[in-house]
Amino acid sequence: MTKALLAALLTAAAAPALAQPTIAPPPPPVPPQVEQLRTAAMQDDYAWDIVEGLTTEVGPRLAGTEAEARAREWSVRKLRSLGFANVRVETFDMPVWVRGEEKAWITAPFPQPLVVTALGNSGATPPQGIEAELVGFDTIDELIAAPDAAVRGKIVFVSHAMGRTQDGSSYGVFGRPRREGPSIASRKGALAIVVRSIGTDYHRNPHTGVMSFAEGVSLIPAGALPLPDAEQVQRILKRGRPVRMRLVMTPRNIGTRQSGNVIAEVPGRDPRAPMLLVSGHLDSWDLGTGAIDDGAGVAIAAAAAKRIMDAGRPLRTIRIVWFGAEEVGLFGGLDYRAKHGKLAYHAIAESDFGADRVWKVDSRLGKENEAEAKMLQLALAPLGIVPGSLEKAEGSDISPLLADGLPGVTLNQDGTHYFDLHHTPDDTLDKVDPAALRQNVAAWTTMLAVLSGGIEPHPKRRNRR
Ligand SMILES: [Zn+2]
Repeated sequence: MTKALLAALLTAAAAPALAQPTIAPPPPPVPPQVEQLRTAAMQDDYAWDIVEGLTTEVGPRLAGTEAEARAREWSVRKLRSLGFANVRVETFDMPVWVRGEEKAWITAPFPQPLVVTALGNSGATPPQGIEAELVGFDTIDELIAAPDAAVRGKIVFVSHAMGRTQDGSSYGVFGRPRREGPSIASRKGALAIVVRSIGTDYHRNPHTGVMSFAEGVSLIPAGALPLPDAEQVQRILKRGRPVRMRLVMTPRNIGTRQSGNVIAEVPGRDPRAPMLLVSGHLDSWDLGTGAIDDGAGVAIAAAAAKRIMDAGRPLRTIRIVWFGAEEVGLFGGLDYRAKHGKLAYHAIAESDFGADRVWKVDSRLGKENEAEAKMLQLALAPLGIVPGSLEKAEGSDISPLLADGLPGVTLNQDGTHYFDLHHTPDDTLDKVDPAALRQNVAAWTTMLAVLSGGIEPHPKRRNRR
């Protein structure tokens, strides 16, 4: 043993005796009212009613389209009928892109059709399509490293190795071909690009999603292939013979249109107390009916607020926001921040990661509210939710507000299967598990109950027959 090591061991051994005990005081016990609300929410039907109604009576709701406008009208009626106060729409303008025809074929050396879908903001081919040599890359970095001459005048294919993760972090890492690929390919003179879908399922469902061309880059057609088709293309490319692809893709920009955020409230007993904001996004991609993305999210947020409202009057106002135009670039979140970002919030939260069970709670409520944050962890534990960070909160539409430093809570849903369905034609109501949805509502109701400042019974109404 070296002297240094011995000294280190002695210091380590001595440390506990020298240090003052620093045992944090235990968080206050979970109030019985919170436990009752949590238990009752496990029987919730409000959330199912909302997601079933929205996906059935409106269906797909692409941002800025007539369908999204119908979704807002539907939402106002629904939120009013549930008894929420101050139900309103706040509109904003945005550029709108709509899908056209989309078809792809390998024309040589093994002619066959493929399934393809356009990525949001994709450029278009002429109506009759284009046909060119196909050049493949296993990763986005390979495309970046390729000389322009290897790409110019060709159709580019980019793969990746996205795997399943519980926390969904693979979406960030492996989403680069979709987000960056089109601009890189265009700069190098490619005619078009197709990427392996940013997804994890082996169905012939392509995953769409937004991308935007970098400033000054010319628009080219940009599509996604389902995983089976992407792997078929890779096998064909591996044969080493020249491969040709034909692509017909005719989306278009239809100019500036209106979208909007739908807002509703449970008024608090103290209108000056910093409020709670719960949210999801109302728009969806156009391929499915947006059940898990994000019909479930808007349903969970509103159902939890409804359960608090049914129980009594919270000290803090609970504001529900169903954001518009999330999928195509967070237009709703940015508009909300511009209009309401300076208000006082005790916590903000968004449900936008499907309909599977909540497994972990992260929060960022500030040092002064640490006891409350720890009580929240305790109160959620019976739902199978593990404590996470006390210094972290996330959410797509609320990310501009979180970036401003507002306090937030994230009830993390299990994302293991999320990217099987995300942005595909398969995002439909039958994929929502009613039992998992109820667990979500129970978690959100518990969160609101803990952070509400206390819920008092409704005053007895007189002269009521
Ligand atoms: Zn979403």
